[in-house]
Amino acid sequence: MVVFVGAGPGAEDLITVRGQKLLQEADVIIYAGSLVNPGLLEVKKESCDVYNSAYMTLEEVMDVMKKAEQQGKKVVRLHTGDPCLYGAIREQMDALKEAGIEYEVCPGVSSFCGAAAALKAEYTLPDVSQSVVITRMAGRTPVPDRESIRSFAAHQSTMVVFLSTGMLEDLSKELIAGGYEKDTPAAIVYKATWPEEKVLLCTVETLAEVAKREKVTKTALIVVGKILDGDYERSLLYHPEFTTEFRKGVGKDE
Ligand code: SAH
Repeated sequence: MVVFVGAGPGAEDLITVRGQKLLQEADVIIYAGSLVNPGLLEVKKESCDVYNSAYMTLEEVMDVMKKAEQQGKKVVRLHTGDPCLYGAIREQMDALKEAGIEYEVCPGVSSFCGAAAALKAEYTLPDVSQSVVITRMAGRTPVPDRESIRSFAAHQSTMVVFLSTGMLEDLSKELIAGGYEKDTPAAIVYKATWPEEKVLLCTVETLAEVAKREKVTKTALIVVGKILDGDYERSLLYHPEFTTEFRKGVGKDE
């Protein structure tokens, strides 16, 4: 059995209880060493074999999984944040299916949630944005044309941009070309929830300049949108006049 486990955004105590238990019981751990906090591995059994997938190909990862399965060992494949985002888990799951090996997924706290916590932000504010676009700039991995930053920018929704810290000048241009005002609030969140976390508030126009000044070149998320600053309407859910399944409102909505 192989379990894909979300390691959380960085802090050692932001893995789920289930994820940590799986790490404690694992005979083999294959972790994404470029981003997973190695401190998470401290709970492992002494006999557990550990592999860093940063140095491995998909084929090598599969070999380790298959050998472990033959020996009846429990394997944890530890991915940063939640494995469902930019985790390259589908190709592993398909290969496992083909090999007849059972697998499961244990979710984790994605870094976009870690970044919101660092910013003390709510991504969805009434009258400002009720949607979050999670995307990236095209790098060596292409992004389909219909999903360009420019086209998403036209919606003025809250946007969280992964894997793009090295392309901030282009990101700014695309955001502005798509319709964000230059002074739209933005933030660069570096290593959210790690001890070395940095939260840099800026604007859509100053993203590249601020990252350069603060020497942030990777492991950051870019958050864009008016939710970061400015007015919003209070929620209906907690409004005294609003009736819900659990609470009777007084006044207008009664
Ligand atoms: N599955 C992961 C994302 C993996 S892609 C998740 O759910 O978070 C790797 C990218 O995620 C990095 O380039 C960076 O943009 C972002 N990232 C991962 N951890 C981060 C953190 N702690 N702080 C800020 N960005 C992070």
